Amino acid sequence: MRKGLLHILNRLLDPKALVLMYHRIATPAADIWGIAVSPENFEQHLKLLRNRGNVVPLRDLVKDVKQGKVRRNSIAITFDDGYTDNFTVARPLLEKYQLPATFFITSGNIGKEEEFWWDELEHILLFAPQLPQIFMAKLSDSPFTFDLQAEASLTEELQQHHRRWDASNDAPPTLRARLFFLLWQQLKPLPQPEQETQMQIIREWAGVPVSARPGYICMAPTQLQELSQHKLFDVGAHTVSHAALGMHNLAVQQKELLDSRQFLSALTGADIPLLAYPYGNYNNWTLEAAANTGFAAAVTTEEKAVTRRSGAYRLGRVQVKNMSGQAFAAQLQQWQRKP
Ligand SMILES: [Zn+2]
Repeated sequence: MRKGLLHILNRLLDPKALVLMYHRIATPAADIWGIAVSPENFEQHLKLLRNRGNVVPLRDLVKDVKQGKVRRNSIAITFDDGYTDNFTVARPLLEKYQLPATFFITSGNIGKEEEFWWDELEHILLFAPQLPQIFMAKLSDSPFTFDLQAEASLTEELQQHHRRWDASNDAPPTLRARLFFLLWQQLKPLPQPEQETQMQIIREWAGVPVSARPGYICMAPTQLQELSQHKLFDVGAHTVSHAALGMHNLAVQQKELLDSRQFLSALTGADIPLLAYPYGNYNNWTLEAAANTGFAAAVTTEEKAVTRRSGAYRLGRVQVKNMSGQAFAAQLQQWQRKP
């Protein structure tokens, strides 16, 4: 009994570190996944972090964890996906406050003038002015039909619903949103070539050409090179195709990890020891594949602090939402109290 209590007390007193997860620093017209933080709010976060003086590069935190120690209240900043605003908006602000960060890059999108499939799907389904009323396609080898009824034509009211929609927590508010969500669920676990085939079917049905909004593309190769040469910044891997790793077999997982690591390493000339699992999705094979392909550590999207007891391939992270500096300060305290 006494041993049990001591164990709990030890855990409570264990120094905790936080890994912050950002995606975009931008103010898009719609943000159904809640992944965009405005530049103004982001600067407030950085001011606060600068004053606290405990931000460390993720690689240093990983080194600490591997040596069985963690500096109390240390914080690492990370970005997922590789959106172009990471370079144009986040980087200058991080430089201004001299704060280190790690950028996890979906390598297959680098150097392409293409949106990620989920952004394009959202743009088509939620914001195309006119769609055919009936959606009909073969999904996972079974025919699928969906009637958009009057929502084939986009109205101002529909747009407002879509702009306010929090897709991670709320049910789809319209027929268009329902169809979007069904397709998103269908596409997410597919291998990349099949995702592209399905997207082409959806584009043709909608009658829209492949198009990329400037704010929705990834960083250019030269921008990534510049980032990785900067003493404050590191580039990490986020697979080739943003694969939901745990939904694929071991061979596919290893290929996604190895190819993205080799691509980024060849481009930047840096070793790429850090990995972030897309969607936070992984299984036991993933942990094995991450170690086999030479990664030293990996971060998840599990909302928990990092301690000296954390596993190097399942480090928790906390997602920073678009909030004021004051709200961020309160949120940090809350996260730091988490077991
Ligand atoms: Zn991602």
